[in-house]
Amino acid sequence: MIFDPMYLIVVGPAILLALWAQGMVKSAFGKMSRVAVRSGVTGAQAAAQILQRHGLNHVGIELAQGMLSDHYDPRHKVLRLSPDVYHGRSIAAVGVAAHEAGHALQDDSGYAPLKLRNGIVPLASVGSNLSWVLVMLGLFMSFSGLIWAGIILFSAVVVFQLINLPVEFNASRRAREVLMQTGIVSGQEDAAVGKVLNAAAMTYVAATLTAVLTLIYYLLRAQGSRN
Ligand SMILES: [Zn+2]
Repeated sequence: MIFDPMYLIVVGPAILLALWAQGMVKSAFGKMSRVAVRSGVTGAQAAAQILQRHGLNHVGIELAQGMLSDHYDPRHKVLRLSPDVYHGRSIAAVGVAAHEAGHALQDDSGYAPLKLRNGIVPLASVGSNLSWVLVMLGLFMSFSGLIWAGIILFSAVVVFQLINLPVEFNASRRAREVLMQTGIVSGQEDAAVGKVLNAAAMTYVAATLTAVLTLIYYLLRAQGSRN
């Protein structure tokens, strides 16, 4: 991208927040993956217990590759857990596994924000790849139609990030509730699980702020190109 000081001024605070949040996640995961959960279950076992308790026996649990690659795949009804989470018997492993199981519970209960989020994924991924090219090309050629096409496409990214926030916070809330109900986690351990999941949530807040500020930056540039 062409270097523009205005970009750093407008979006810079969000970039700083994102870096800070990444540090928080690393530190929380590092600490809490060394703290064993007293019930002694692995992340995979915790996820299985949560799914069983809610009658979701059709949801699979698979071992995925790569660190922090954990996710729930709503299309194939599968939880994919990274090796550390799948095999781990720590607060961090059980917390992350339960969070992903929380997404499966959302899917099962027809939680509307999850449906909305999944619906906008294709448009948002096109938007995040193509929008800045259109905006930059539009600015370069002084063609406002291209700039606005890029801005409209990028709006899908902003909408995705905004809907993603309640989805992620809700999955973590469900995770903590069900971890206590099943006895996988005891009273004092819940606060430690909260630390891990709240740190992860901060990265989503940072991503949302980055998207909103980038949209504002595009709007400012579009405005500037008109004068
Ligand atoms: Zn999540």
